[in-house]
Amino acid sequence: MDNNSLAELLYPDIKTLPADMEARYPERNLPEGAKVTRFAPSPTGFLHIGNLYGAFTDERLAHTSGGVFYLRIEDTDAKRTVPNGVEIIIQTLARLGLEFDEGAVSGGDSGDYGPYRQSERAPIYQTYAKQLVREGKAYPCFCTEEELAAIREKQEAAKLTTGYYGEFAVWRDAPLEKIKEKLAAGEKFVLRFRSEGSAANKYKFRDQIKGEIDVTENDIDHVILKSDGIPTYHFAHAVDDHLMRTTHVVRDESWLSTLPFHIQLFKALGFKLPKYCHTAQMLKLDNGNKRKISKRKDPEFALTYYLAQGYPVAAVREYLITILNSNFEEWRLANPDAPLDNFKFSTNKMSISGSIFDLDKLNDISKNVVSRMTAEEVFEGALAWAQENDEEFANILSAGKEKALRIFSIGRGGKKPRKDIAKWSEVKRFVSFFYPSLFAREDEIPPQFAREDVKAVLSAFAAGYDPADAQDVWFGKIKQIAADNGFCPDMKQYKASPEAFKGSVADVSMFIRVAVTGRVNSPDLYEVMNVLGGEEVLRRVSG
Ligand code: GLU
Repeated sequence: MDNNSLAELLYPDIKTLPADMEARYPERNLPEGAKVTRFAPSPTGFLHIGNLYGAFTDERLAHTSGGVFYLRIEDTDAKRTVPNGVEIIIQTLARLGLEFDEGAVSGGDSGDYGPYRQSERAPIYQTYAKQLVREGKAYPCFCTEEELAAIREKQEAAKLTTGYYGEFAVWRDAPLEKIKEKLAAGEKFVLRFRSEGSAANKYKFRDQIKGEIDVTENDIDHVILKSDGIPTYHFAHAVDDHLMRTTHVVRDESWLSTLPFHIQLFKALGFKLPKYCHTAQMLKLDNGNKRKISKRKDPEFALTYYLAQGYPVAAVREYLITILNSNFEEWRLANPDAPLDNFKFSTNKMSISGSIFDLDKLNDISKNVVSRMTAEEVFEGALAWAQENDEEFANILSAGKEKALRIFSIGRGGKKPRKDIAKWSEVKRFVSFFYPSLFAREDEIPPQFAREDVKAVLSAFAAGYDPADAQDVWFGKIKQIAADNGFCPDMKQYKASPEAFKGSVADVSMFIRVAVTGRVNSPDLYEVMNVLGGEEVLRRVSG
């Protein structure tokens, strides 16, 4: 068979050669060791925690090595593409702290290796496809759906591996005349890769995350270009990652099954194989058992969850690194204040079997992160979230920035900062008692305390309260009120003989706290009162 004529026959409009592409997309000029990574989603409009896990790995690999992190849109399947898909991806990831250096941007491209949307790269794929035909490494297949189904049935009945291979690859060695006939009749064809592999051959392959793995050679003649000339994932992956000069391919482990085919393709095309990093699935502990995190059962599967809840970007980043690299927590303990970028991210510290996703852990990390923020940062974060989600609270915050900063300063800045806020959506609840318009009583004074004692304590406090008192004077008065009403002013003494008292000074403080804040727990009460002001404090203790 004359492969050159076949190539011309199949792709007459393609005049470019692989050499033209190589010249158009030269090797990148980057420092030694710089990694080029890509996030390559389909623009379905839905991003999940697995996407973020992978994208974050890409981002860290590139940005801790002086490399490039780019966005490629895999939109070869029109059915899965939604109109705003690209925009949603860029916005969502940016809001979670991931910025691309190049790639698809809203409404176009940024960078020298585009187009970054696969739907715009058909001539590039076809250039390589035509070359494979010329070299006898690819051929057209005119099988109809029905014919393929019949082949499959036959294989299943004979308990054979299903697929287009060996004797079942009916167009593999078809004569040129037969192909010409079909083309003349206007029949559609797909282009298949001519595999020279055998399923009997096994070899070792080194994955950057999984380590050494056993691989079986591919013997299936997979489709590389569909009948509309648009590539399958496999072919687009090889061509794009080569031309865009990707050094590290980070992707879900579900792609491991087709890795042998990808290795073949790179070889057949004369491309250098990138390093592969196959990420393990994300697991969740459910009643002590590990299971796959799921779209149906777990709201935290969707990335929109984190935005709606208002997790600070810094917390999400810190959390992701924690689950991505097993040595991060130790590093963080040794370097509590170091910027996260100083941590040396590495693929061989990633989980092989599956990372455990744990919302409690995210909340703990987030509380830590927020506790280290300045009052101004908390204000900005809470306001930005409220502006999108809670107009009433946004108005309150922006109308009284000074007061809000005083509130957020309570318990902040010292050696042991207060760790209460994990996400911006919680802020309103934590601070509502500072605002008369939001104030609502949440807790009651426990019933074991006599109401007249509570009343007596509160009136004594109201009678002696002076907003100008220093903290020690203020607390001295509370102790005195305790002593005057049969509550022990000294905790040690109280613990030694609790039966001798109605309660302790802690209980007395609690009465006042519940009266003033409507809660049993609050930040430092003296500071709370300072922010509230004398008038409001008196109104609440007398109310
Ligand atoms: N478009 C593929 C996906 O969304 C990308 C896989 C890859 O990163 O190679 O699964």
